[in-house]
Amino acid sequence: MTTANPPAETRGRMTVTDLGDALALAGSIDETAALHELIGRAHANRLTLDLAAVIFINSLGVRDWIRMQAAAQKSNLAVELRRVSEPLVHQLNMIIATRGAAHVSSFYAPYACDACGREESLLIDAVAHHDRLVKLDPPPMTCPECGAQMAFNDFPERYFSFLSA
Ligand SMILES: [Zn+2]
Repeated sequence: MTTANPPAETRGRMTVTDLGDALALAGSIDETAALHELIGRAHANRLTLDLAAVIFINSLGVRDWIRMQAAAQKSNLAVELRRVSEPLVHQLNMIIATRGAAHVSSFYAPYACDACGREESLLIDAVAHHDRLVKLDPPPMTCPECGAQMAFNDFPERYFSFLSA
């Protein structure tokens, strides 16, 4: 068994790490990220991107992201987006073309605890919670600080809109 992390490639202000079953992107996405080139890294007609550590995407990065989605659709590639960070969820909500035909398996969402004031970005499993998410009903989350139930800290009809067709 090895505990060493796989090496990360640097592309502008973004890094790419090959996790084996997914490519993990981290940092900021801009025109130097060359996202569309990731299409060539798909395995068995499938490209899985882990997006937990993406903190920012600028307008040129969004343009490149849309190119990547279009190229994936053209070559019938299944794209899975996993652990999508909040900044990318906002893009998926604002610009429909950024969704392409990608399947979002999980994503981060803002929660707040009324009891202790803690605010946290928590991971939502979009498959397990599919039925309530399409009804714009945020899954309940427990505060890691005090154990109280946390409240969803955005407008569900806005934050979950990327999940509707
Ligand atoms: Zn709390």
